[in-house]
Amino acid sequence: MLEPSHASYLKNLVGEGNFYDDSPHLSAYAYDATKERYLPDGVIFARDEHDISQILAYCNMHKIIVVPRGAGSGFTGGALSVRGGLILSLERMDQILEIDEKNLIARVQPGVINKHFQEVVEKRGLFYPPDPASQDQSTLGGNVSENAGGMRAAKYGITKDYVMALRAVLPNGDIIRAGKKTIKDVAGFNVAGILIASEGCLAVITEMTLKLLAKPKLRQSAMGVFNSIKEAMEAVYKSMASGVTPVAMEFLDNLTINAVEQRFNKGLPIGAGQF
Ligand SMILES: Cc1cc2nc3c(=O)[nH]c(=O)nc-3n(C[C@H](O)[C@H](O)[C@H](O)COP(=O)(O)OP(=O)(O)OC[C@H]3O[C@@H](n4cnc5c(N)ncnc54)[C@H](O)[C@@H]3O)c2cc1C
Repeated sequence: MLEPSHASYLKNLVGEGNFYDDSPHLSAYAYDATKERYLPDGVIFARDEHDISQILAYCNMHKIIVVPRGAGSGFTGGALSVRGGLILSLERMDQILEIDEKNLIARVQPGVINKHFQEVVEKRGLFYPPDPASQDQSTLGGNVSENAGGMRAAKYGITKDYVMALRAVLPNGDIIRAGKKTIKDVAGFNVAGILIASEGCLAVITEMTLKLLAKPKLRQSAMGVFNSIKEAMEAVYKSMASGVTPVAMEFLDNLTINAVEQRFNKGLPIGAGQF
């Protein structure tokens, strides 16, 4: 439990409705996708970078553990308050700050949901490829902090390939900027690169400048039927080396094809892969 003086300071800092230490809130923020459960001592919702700076400076001074959290869909346990302390939720910092169509970049707050971001940029003819299977719920801040990848990774890469610059708050409350908006940014240490995949251990990411692509004009799906797994795998190597890299490839063996057919009756070739 947080000392009453700490609870009262933090509540005053972020205002009514942004700090909780009641049992329902503590329970609601005790989980991530690992299904492990560790009750925090408090849950605080940051409204902006300034809040985060103040929260971290105070907690650093008073040795209160702070665990940043996006949507809590991570499998690493990084959003769990294993030794108590404060869950710092970024979910209310969910604004897309800028979409720069000329320079193909966007500036976003960490709490933006991946899928929402994809939909918004696609309406403008742009494309953000990283698509973790948790895209309906996971936040872009969580994606950067875990360096999430998805089905489109083979062709387009993973989250780190789309992070151009970051703003973040260090544990002592200092605000830093890392990276640049330009592609040919070679000067200095790659500080943004260190923060990517750091699972909230080094800093709290407060803003991200992400690279966008032009939305592909055409999409085409194809199904190949093979007599054996070996033949199917050879087709994968050949198509990857042919210069026409597929966005995603899904492999179904005979057992899976038959299971899908029994359940959904899609007309899949049930004799495939038997030789
Ligand atoms: C059904 C399902 C499918 C999934 N599919 C994929 C997949 O295809 N590919 C993949 O890579 N992962 C996948 N994941 C894992 C998870 O969704 C990703 O790791 C995702 O990026 C986590 O985002 P989140 O917003 O839920 O972050 P959280 O789980 O809340 O946090 C994850 C970590 O990031 C830190 N963090 C969060 N926000 C910040 C911030 N602003 N600053 C600093 N640190 C921060 C937390 O402290 C924690 O260490 C999946 C999870 C589920 C449940």
